[in-house]
Amino acid sequence: MLISLPKVRGIYRYNVSMSKITWLNVGGQADVLFKPRDIEDLICLIKNTELPISVIGATSNIIVRDGGIRGITIKLGKEFAYIRCKDNNSIVAGGAALLSNLAYFAGEQQISGLEFLVGIPGTVGGGIEMNAGAYGSDIASIVQSIKAVNLEDGNLYEFSSKEIGYVYRGHNLSRRWIFVEAEFKGVGSEHGIILSKLKEVIDKKNKSQPLRGKTAGCIFKNPKDYQAWKLIDESGCRGLNSGGAKISKKHCNFLLNHNNATAFDLENLGNKIKDVVKDKFNVELEWEVRVLGSY
Ligand SMILES: Cc1cc2nc3c(=O)[nH]c(=O)nc-3n(C[C@H](O)[C@H](O)[C@H](O)COP(=O)(O)OP(=O)(O)OC[C@H]3O[C@@H](n4cnc5c(N)ncnc54)[C@H](O)[C@@H]3O)c2cc1C
Repeated sequence: MLISLPKVRGIYRYNVSMSKITWLNVGGQADVLFKPRDIEDLICLIKNTELPISVIGATSNIIVRDGGIRGITIKLGKEFAYIRCKDNNSIVAGGAALLSNLAYFAGEQQISGLEFLVGIPGTVGGGIEMNAGAYGSDIASIVQSIKAVNLEDGNLYEFSSKEIGYVYRGHNLSRRWIFVEAEFKGVGSEHGIILSKLKEVIDKKNKSQPLRGKTAGCIFKNPKDYQAWKLIDESGCRGLNSGGAKISKKHCNFLLNHNNATAFDLENLGNKIKDVVKDKFNVELEWEVRVLGSY
């Protein structure tokens, strides 16, 4: 298939096998993967194409379906991975900066409040989209403002944290966006104290989550007044498998590509668990993992 693409300065790659780059190691081919050079380049692409656009970050929270992704998939690259200090305990980071790097950088600058990010293997852009969080903190509690390009009109906008309208694992912005930069704020502290908090987060995570498996973090959001892992556990689904997909025995809200799973295996097992929990507790689990692409 011949695809007509706008002339840009960034890199196009064609027929990219998503199973080779996603955390879960599943997914068919993306027709075109685009890494823009800078914001102007990104805008140039969006304003000059009619093709469908998808966005990925570090892929630590997505299942790409076996049929792959049509149109253009945008992934911000190293040019967007900067992290720098502003003033008054504020830090500015590009959309591709890793959340763990942001946590360590904040520590070096003696800025506390970002330690919870150290165990979340995503990017700033993905973290903003998901309102990623852990141990009682989330992105909403530290973000001051964001810069985002609208995927429909291709214009650059800036939002205050209030305008983003954060909710649990999401936000209330309407329309579709790519988050290119954000400003975070913490509070002044000492490097040594921050380092021990970082270690505490890492230790807790290592004890409770299968961090080295092929996974995408929590499959389901916690329903109001419940914990998803408990519902799954008490439904007898701990360790359940289907095809090559498996529910982790260590943390039963984690889905694993245990044995050459397909995206279908993973989605299918997730849907089975939803049914079992619904039957047993009359609670509807909602996917936290985002599903992209076609069957
Ligand atoms: C081992 C493990 C542990 C985890 N622990 C946690 C945890 O403690 N807490 C937690 O909240 N999550 C956790 N996660 C899930 C995941 O790391 C977070 O959701 C993270 O924020 C996803 O970021 P990402 O860059 O990988 O986004 P992706 O997975 O690539 O994408 C997720 C969503 O964000 C969108 N997106 C990505 N980049 C951008 C961008 N620049 N602009 C707009 N939209 C974008 C995508 O379209 C998609 O809808 C864990 C995952 C793993 C594998």
